[in-house]
Amino acid sequence: MKNKYLVVSIHDVTPNFNSQLTKIISELDKIGVNKKSILVIPDYLGKNSISQSGEFIEWLHSLQDKGNEIVQHGLEHISTNHNYPSFLEKFIGEQIAQGCGEFQNISYKEAKEKIWKGKEIFKANGFGAVGFVAPAWLLNPESEKALKEDFQYTTSFSNIEFFSPYKKESSNIVVFTSGGGLINKGFEWYNQHLIKRKFKNQRIARVAIHPQDIESGFFQLTLNAINELRQNKEIVTYADILDIKNE
Ligand SMILES: [Zn+2]
Repeated sequence: MKNKYLVVSIHDVTPNFNSQLTKIISELDKIGVNKKSILVIPDYLGKNSISQSGEFIEWLHSLQDKGNEIVQHGLEHISTNHNYPSFLEKFIGEQIAQGCGEFQNISYKEAKEKIWKGKEIFKANGFGAVGFVAPAWLLNPESEKALKEDFQYTTSFSNIEFFSPYKKESSNIVVFTSGGGLINKGFEWYNQHLIKRKFKNQRIARVAIHPQDIESGFFQLTLNAINELRQNKEIVTYADILDIKNE
């Protein structure tokens, strides 16, 4: 086994983005990326539970059977509290995350309820995720406390946190955004900085793919990044890393 890893994560997996997701998975299959962490939204916008589509559930199970990992990605993927504690938080929540920060700004109790509702939906469809990733990686301390009791790890924009035993590991992520001209430029520069320099000093490099990357054209750039990074890294899921960590 190589001692450096690459996690390819697919975000916002819900029947609503079926056509984009089919394309993403088939392109990744073509280049032999067989292990992916698949971030599933249990009930997108509160009205699109994955339970509504038997075909979608079957497809997810077939992906899991092939060695992909199913991860819980929030519950509804939409922010309900727009009272931000600071201007910076507001900018991050509204401009960069575009209102997806479901766990950016809520109480422990609200977070717990959302986490459990999502877990119930997963359970009803035969899934038991060990990992939870908050939409847009925005997770306040109250939410983090709530999810530690139910999952083995979470990830943020710059780290992976393993809960048992607790370990926070620096691991950045290549991601493209459709936030607008200057924001896009900033992310492009940052991604190159990660690929050319920062990942040299990290055990785990990460790449995130969103359904919107298909329309925006960023998907090809993501494939290029994966091809460059995989040259000296083994492609694994987060769940694989948990096993590796426990060896
Ligand atoms: Zn998301």
